[in-house]
Amino acid sequence: MRILTKLLPAKHLLSIAVVSAFLAVALVALPDGEIADKNTISLEANFEVVDQSQLMLQDLRQLAPTANTPAPNVFFSTNNINTDTTTTTIHDIPAPKALVQKSAPPTFKEQTVEIKSGDSLSKLLSAEGISAQDIHKVSLADKSQKTLLQMRPGQTLQFVTDNTSGELTSLTIVLNRLDSVTFDRVGDEFTRKEDSRTPEITQAYKEAEINDSLFVDGLKSGIDQSLLIELANIFGWDIDFALDIRKGDSLSVLYEEQLLDGEKIGNGNIIAAQFINNGRTYQAIRYTTDKGSSYYSPDGLAMRKAFIRTPVDFTRISSKFNPNRLHPVFKTTMPHRGVDYAAASGTPVKAAGDGKISFAGKQNGYGNVVIIDHGRGYQTLYAHLRGFAKGTKRGARVQQGKVIAYVGQTGWATGPHLHYEFRINGTHKNPVTVKLPNDEPMPKNDLKNYLPYAKQVVATLANSHSPEFAQKLASLNKN
Ligand SMILES: [Zn+2]
Repeated sequence: MRILTKLLPAKHLLSIAVVSAFLAVALVALPDGEIADKNTISLEANFEVVDQSQLMLQDLRQLAPTANTPAPNVFFSTNNINTDTTTTTIHDIPAPKALVQKSAPPTFKEQTVEIKSGDSLSKLLSAEGISAQDIHKVSLADKSQKTLLQMRPGQTLQFVTDNTSGELTSLTIVLNRLDSVTFDRVGDEFTRKEDSRTPEITQAYKEAEINDSLFVDGLKSGIDQSLLIELANIFGWDIDFALDIRKGDSLSVLYEEQLLDGEKIGNGNIIAAQFINNGRTYQAIRYTTDKGSSYYSPDGLAMRKAFIRTPVDFTRISSKFNPNRLHPVFKTTMPHRGVDYAAASGTPVKAAGDGKISFAGKQNGYGNVVIIDHGRGYQTLYAHLRGFAKGTKRGARVQQGKVIAYVGQTGWATGPHLHYEFRINGTHKNPVTVKLPNDEPMPKNDLKNYLPYAKQVVATLANSHSPEFAQKLASLNKN
């Protein structure tokens, strides 16, 4: 646990010096007499300082609860000196009681503790000398929200204690750069208040030329990884980033940056992006309709396709789509009407597109199999599954990307793999090469507002291009 102790009143700083001097004297064990006398005199000359050092000594006692010694009457008695720091005793400094009380303003101590794995509120606070009653009272104020119960490593607790009574006066849990929850003592209980800061949003522009890969060159050009992942998702429907990338491909991106106190704290949405791939250019613009936010071409076509190309993360294609194949088990000509994706048993299988499950169960050679109807004559089939995901049953609606089952080798299979079929109006197509239909186009009503907006965004993007990027685009358009 790392503790950062900040003492509030500036006078305390002065008293630290005074107390340090005392402790140094006590520990070094100078012959009693002269020096002690000197200190006594200097302290008595200034009651304010005596007062503050009294409070400091209380602080020290709270920080080291083991130093629990009966107050000795002797000022600096040498027989109490101990080299073992854990049992070092701290003596009361005789100071006129009346004066101390009169001049003592309420002083508070503010501390910050970073939450580590395995910490709990009571563990953290009781280690700082906060009473069990106070911890209980704070928990009561948080009873329905349970923010404090869900504290996570990396978050911090800031708390203020009354130096005289040792009572907790305020506790703040800082959840992240933007959000915090504060508990303030009011009488004998605590109130709870949530604070949220709103970051300032600005637009930023970056571009990159790709000579190695999207990620290598993107990062080199100062584009954050999270943005690159998003760019890969936006353009991944049209560009295979593993196979299609050519040296000299370029991209430009207009996006939001979140600022807090002038400092960048994160990225917002990608507003628009452009990709020049192998002599072709793609543009995507983010737009929000009743159905949510998505990316569209400048003329309003969805960037997203109605199907994802591969419904599983596979290691290799173990058998291609082949209408004239010799079957590996039966050694007879038997068309392979799908593609086999080799993957470890248990790898999640995703629905390729939105649709309704028309079959989920066992079928001879297929073993455990799922068939999804996507409407418009489209159907996909997933076979040799080890098992089904929760909710995968006949009649259930599924969304593109939802995990429906797990890779296995049930039915006629020689190893764990997903056998995947893509059918259009009953005809089997090669899932690897079939032209995937675009997602539903933008509704006409939205399109009316979208087109002028898109025009404006395209202009902003064009104005941001570097001369090199603009030149590359111009040469493309000429061809
Ligand atoms: Zn197969």
